[in-house]
Amino acid sequence: SVSTKVNLLPEVEGFLSQSPFASFVGGKNFPAASGDLVATMDPGSGDKIGDIHDLSSAEIDQAVDIANDAFPAWSAMSQSDRSAILLKLADAVEQRKPIIAQIEALEAGKIEAQAAGDVQNFADTLRYFVKLSDGVETRTKLDSPGHDAWTYKQPWGACAFIFPWNFPFLLIGWGISPALAAGNTVVIKPAEDTSLSAIYLAQLAKEVGVPDGVINVVTGRGATAGAALTGNAKIKRMSFTGSPEVGQLVGEACGRNLVPVKLELGGKGAAVIFDDVDVEATAEALVGAITFHSGQVCCDATRWIIHEDIYDEFVQHCKDKMQNIQIGHPLDPNSQMGPVVNPKQCERVLGYQQKGKADGAECIFGGGPATVVGFDGNYVKPALLAGTMDNIAAREEIFGPVAFLAKFKTEAEAIAMANDTEYGLANSVWTKDNDRAGRVAEAMVAGNSWINAHNVFAQGVPYGGVNKSGMGGGVLSIETLMDYYRSTSVVRPL
Ligand code: NAD
Repeated sequence: SVSTKVNLLPEVEGFLSQSPFASFVGGKNFPAASGDLVATMDPGSGDKIGDIHDLSSAEIDQAVDIANDAFPAWSAMSQSDRSAILLKLADAVEQRKPIIAQIEALEAGKIEAQAAGDVQNFADTLRYFVKLSDGVETRTKLDSPGHDAWTYKQPWGACAFIFPWNFPFLLIGWGISPALAAGNTVVIKPAEDTSLSAIYLAQLAKEVGVPDGVINVVTGRGATAGAALTGNAKIKRMSFTGSPEVGQLVGEACGRNLVPVKLELGGKGAAVIFDDVDVEATAEALVGAITFHSGQVCCDATRWIIHEDIYDEFVQHCKDKMQNIQIGHPLDPNSQMGPVVNPKQCERVLGYQQKGKADGAECIFGGGPATVVGFDGNYVKPALLAGTMDNIAAREEIFGPVAFLAKFKTEAEAIAMANDTEYGLANSVWTKDNDRAGRVAEAMVAGNSWINAHNVFAQGVPYGGVNKSGMGGGVLSIETLMDYYRSTSVVRPL
């Protein structure tokens, strides 16, 4: 049972009492006939929260069929009726924010206030895509001499989504909102560590009148349930967010069936810090970014490339800021940094600190496990490693509160260091010189460059990676919405 040391809302207690949690498909509970279960844990206390059902491959196929069966009615609905239903869902999500945020804090180890921000972002993203879809012209006349020609856009059918555990609810919002707004039905496979907020969402959707079969959640292990979804030839589009290793498997499986696929993968972002910055404020912002959600953020700045003239001062401020980060249970309002998601992730983070040192880096601050009195969770201390960018800890994604620091002399050198990576998700440049900021931001090879900030998202600004960080155009923009319409060119020779 969940730790008695955390206070849960009665609605959350009520929801958790459903355990073992069935999947939710076609508007009802959809249990695994085998009775196979996967445990879900509170990473902040190490206590078990409950179990989720582990669906078989045949059951995943059945869920896809149910989503495809629901498609004709959902796609034939008028745009205004469909939008009204989705806006009701956005309102309901916003109203239930405290409940969903607690579920998410408990299961994903996310600081409660940050989880509440993610829930709000879900509602805002859904509203954004509903509004955008209301303005889509489905018939577009083409200027083609000698032809009466137009394109006709319509939704695809059942679209599948596989999500990771770091931003379970927010990423569902970013993923499914454009698909639903365009008139598709969705099958969501959350990560096995964090399936509860997805199940809550599917139940809530039913409650507010989203037609059965439009939003389906299938649960289970990645290698079985996830793989079955990627291998299903009846899904019309696949969107995967997760590691590059699994992303490759997903891409291969979709390729075999020629299912269009969007991959949002890992990162190894750089922050290039010039010598004209407010050193203390920049140190504070970057320490805040690397400790946010314990560094389990795909677009994090994990390589800090610092001008040599301010290096020592910058490092001193970083140490001072990190020293003061309050580590604790995500539902303790005093906590600033929670645990990492599971014991395996804990080992990974601590392991990379060791591997980095063995490869020649110096640990200049922190590192190792952290103790939180009264909670036997997966806590690690934030760490600063320093060395050269060929170090293993500077090359591979750690996915924890570990920053790798290196010095530079010239702008060209800094850009080359930032670009010396297989990844290409997000970087930042820190300087008071606007010309230089723009120049460096454009020269860094990635889907996203931020200036004097890190981790900035807005509906309407495309977000996605290149190279090992992903493919398929990213999320949050008009292009994302258009991905969820297929287009037919209609031509009549005159
Ligand atoms: P993961 O790749 O291990 O798992 C992601 C999802 O894939 C889970 O739902 C899992 O069950 C499923 N899965 C596992 N094996 C599968 C298989 N063989 N076939 C189909 N599905 C399978 O990733 P994770 O550890 O949950 O998440 C961390 C990773 O996600 C990091 O690399 C991080 O950078 C990345 N990430 C990227 C973004 C982005 O927007 N680019 C956002 C968040 C996280």
